[in-house]
Amino acid sequence: MEFLPISWRLQGKQALLIGGGEVALRKGRLLHRAGSAITVVAPEVCDELRQIAVDSHGAVLEKAFEVADLDGKSLVICATDDSALNARAAELAGSKGLPVNVVDNPSLGDFIFPAIVDRSPVLISISSSGASPVLARKLRSQLESSLPARWGRLADLMARFRQPLKDKLDNVGARRLFWEQTLDGPLVEKVLAGKDSEAEAMLEAAIEAADAEQLSRGEVYLVGAGPGDPDLLTFRALRLLQKADVVLYDRLVGKGIVDLARRDAEMVYVGKARDKHALPQDNINELLVHYAKQGKKVCRLKGGDPFIFGRGGEEIDLIVQEGIDFQVVPGITAASGCAAYGGIPLTHRDHAQSVRFVTGHRKDGTVTLDWEHLVSESETVVFYMGLVGLRQICDQLMAHGRKGDTPIALISRGTTNLQEVITGTLDNLPDQVEGREIHAPTLIIVGSVVSLHPKFGWFR
Ligand code: SAH
Repeated sequence: MEFLPISWRLQGKQALLIGGGEVALRKGRLLHRAGSAITVVAPEVCDELRQIAVDSHGAVLEKAFEVADLDGKSLVICATDDSALNARAAELAGSKGLPVNVVDNPSLGDFIFPAIVDRSPVLISISSSGASPVLARKLRSQLESSLPARWGRLADLMARFRQPLKDKLDNVGARRLFWEQTLDGPLVEKVLAGKDSEAEAMLEAAIEAADAEQLSRGEVYLVGAGPGDPDLLTFRALRLLQKADVVLYDRLVGKGIVDLARRDAEMVYVGKARDKHALPQDNINELLVHYAKQGKKVCRLKGGDPFIFGRGGEEIDLIVQEGIDFQVVPGITAASGCAAYGGIPLTHRDHAQSVRFVTGHRKDGTVTLDWEHLVSESETVVFYMGLVGLRQICDQLMAHGRKGDTPIALISRGTTNLQEVITGTLDNLPDQVEGREIHAPTLIIVGSVVSLHPKFGWFR
């Protein structure tokens, strides 16, 4: 992050605007809207900017910029068409510790102006960190058209009822939940339809009826986060993730997904690299119960699907015993994700009529499987957690009758930008990958469908 977006209160603050033309005017209008007192310094100042300076209780200095103009100012904007002057003024302002913006040259200043969607009091600022203002403006226009103008009214209404709700519910978590539920309900439509007094009555009644006990009850969300690409989260997963007070996540859940949690949520890493669990399973189960009993909404975020080699069953067992509310959100399992992003259809009428998901990893580290059931030519077999046992898997499949030239794929970090697909056959893949650095997690797909990868592989 090159710039930190913050919202800056400028009412009553003195701004120095260097420049008197069109570019300076645009910044002047913004500063004026934010309530700043604006001093404009330039040999020539256009009429509108002159008026803005006067209306803002600032000043117009029709002369060249001098260092003394910086005195008493809280921020400086260099908006002349003379880049040398802009640079010099920025340097002087910087040496006095004043935050400075150089229009059209973000690298010379401390702050930049984002594109703004103004639904005051709701403000959305969009910045490309100076990389492409055009892109930021394009995004802004998309948001402008999708955000009804009355959003601001909604925020005003909520602001007015903050205190009455505080009087009714003293638990901050319960209040947040109340607002979340309210925003998911019909109130929003009422406000957007301009029915303000009906909306107000509705909110009043909802606050009156708010049940503190029910709102502060803990709940566990067992959420499948998919195989890695954050775009593969479901809407429900995202919604619950953003609702959670505490998020317990493990190694398989990508950072891009963990970052989608609420900023103030407590994030608990519970590990799970193979054979070195950061927290034993029992402790994870107990932690879930512990947080839920504190009345928290707990999101247990798991890679892929929680019920496919995800120990989801173990994790909810204790929750059920303790009578805690919970819900389970399915996720895209690694087999589906890796197959799709690897261009390997798991079934195909010309290749495989069935697919089997198996785990190549046992608690004691060996691979003991029902090999004789895994050798049908018309079945695709997907091995989760199979990399360490790759040679054994290939040998056993061949020993039980699968042909040595059966195609096999090893997919590492599937669906992420680091995805790697290595293909071969049962009799040559182990040698191919011997000594090669393969990054976890990896999935193995065995069967004739793998031969379609060169044709259907689309994700690079
Ligand atoms: N519940 C998960 C599986 C957990 S077991 C799911 O439904 O996907 C962990 C195994 O899943 C890993 O050892 C690996 O075999 C597989 N896996 C998970 N994510 C993967 C990815 N992005 N690429 C390849 N394999 C993955």
